[in-house]
Amino acid sequence: LLAALQPPPADPILALGGLFAADPRPGRIDLGIGIYKDEAGATPIMRSVKAAEHRLLDTRTTKRYVGARGDRQFAAAMIDLVFGTATDSGRVASLQAPGGTGALRVLAQFLAAVRPEATVWLPDPTWLNHEAIFAAVGLKTAYYPYYDRERSELRFDALCERLRSAAPGDIVLLHGCCHNPSGADLDEAQWRTLAGLLLERDLIPFVDIAYQGFGRGLDEDALGLRILAEQLPELLAASSCSKNFGLYSERVGCAMVLARNPREAEIATARMTVHARTLYSMPPDHGAAIVRTILEDDALLTDWHSELEAIREDMNGKRLHLAKAFRQASGTDEFGYLAHGFGMFSLLTLSPAQIEHARSAFGIYIVEDGRINVAGLPTSRIDDFAEAILAIRKA
Ligand code: PMP
Repeated sequence: LLAALQPPPADPILALGGLFAADPRPGRIDLGIGIYKDEAGATPIMRSVKAAEHRLLDTRTTKRYVGARGDRQFAAAMIDLVFGTATDSGRVASLQAPGGTGALRVLAQFLAAVRPEATVWLPDPTWLNHEAIFAAVGLKTAYYPYYDRERSELRFDALCERLRSAAPGDIVLLHGCCHNPSGADLDEAQWRTLAGLLLERDLIPFVDIAYQGFGRGLDEDALGLRILAEQLPELLAASSCSKNFGLYSERVGCAMVLARNPREAEIATARMTVHARTLYSMPPDHGAAIVRTILEDDALLTDWHSELEAIREDMNGKRLHLAKAFRQASGTDEFGYLAHGFGMFSLLTLSPAQIEHARSAFGIYIVEDGRINVAGLPTSRIDDFAEAILAIRKA
């Protein structure tokens, strides 16, 4: 069984984390894995989360299974958080899932059963796990142009042109906000144009929304998804609470399907439940219970909003600072796009040799495609960072 087995290719982001952990240099900077970090490099538990946990500890009396659908009140609260008033919540099938990844996988499995012939169109570039998740269920994937690395901008016209050539019934994966890895998001007019195109070409949007609240605000970050939900008859959405609630380790997500009517939504939920049963049977309880407790309590909700706002302002402040530091050190506005990006990630145009040089000479850890986690950059190091990157590019 194992004699001829080769190890799988290393996950570049996790491998980078391993190298960082083994590096003894005190000033090293980890811009790899996507977690929010404060100025001290810590990822503390949010106040509202702690308060909800205390409440749960005091009131919980059992550890019974939650069932394959998970907590229905959690799922209902997530529909409100994600869809707002864009649609009748009775039209949305929903299932609590283990993280955004679990939600993506359940929905992928659902698609593979319902539309096995479809191609899933992914943005180029995208989160590395997307292609692997759809490949794992046997669905074909293809890429549409999304971001121009040389010009550091969206390729919206090319995106529309490519999607016009997709076959009716194909699936189009979109990042709801804070695109990973580019930080470049569609604006409202572009979402509206895209909604028209998807409708006209009979394409089904699949929105991965893993960073709601990290870009412009909770409602603002869901705007694109809500425009699609208003205009299209059907849509899939995978939401993650890993980042906006800081619940990375608890594995909290929600798989949702907007159906044409409540009857079809019920069927979609039942079908997703069948897939959950064979994948992991039932989701873990604790994290989703925390989220539900916060979303259902006015005081906790207000506190969570203010904590999330502080995180967002910190990241946006770092972006402004970073763009300014590059402008001052380079005398050009080449890096101005960093200030206009959303969420944790942006891309730097660096060759693999330059990325390696950043690590060996400066202790700066950047993912191999040039992705940086802006939240991983302490404010006190931003000026040094900009100078180091410019020095590397000149070398
Ligand atoms: N989608 C995207 C675009 C992501 O960046 C991530 C996390 N890196 C996820 C989904 C999944 O998040 P999780 O499974 O940790 O909730």
